[in-house]
Amino acid sequence: MSCTHAEPEEKPASDELECKICYQRYNAHNRKPKILDCLHRVCARCLNKILDIGDGSQFISCPFCRHETEVTEYEVAGLPDDSNIMSKLATRDKSWSSDSKEVVLTP
Ligand SMILES: [Zn+2]
Ligand SMILES: [Zn+2]
Repeated sequence: MSCTHAEPEEKPASDELECKICYQRYNAHNRKPKILDCLHRVCARCLNKILDIGDGSQFISCPFCRHETEVTEYEVAGLPDDSNIMSKLATRDKSWSSDSKEVVLTP
């Protein structure tokens, strides 16, 4: 039997464009590249997950160096984006046009 589970794997032109935790490409929607205090980058989605695990904690422990960045659940979106990556994404995906207001869903 042949396993034909072929993933559409993109060539890693620049692995800077993907989150090192979930290995998904950053995007301008729910997976923005966020910069922690230690200057490591994690996508917003993973940050939310990390916050989820640390019940009520206002600190995100960096998955890479364990440096703690103070943040509230509400403010994950408020952490600085990596504008460098954001602009790269913008040039690669012109389809993410306009500045549509993003609605932050709070549980
Ligand atoms: Zn991620
Ligand atoms: Zn770190």
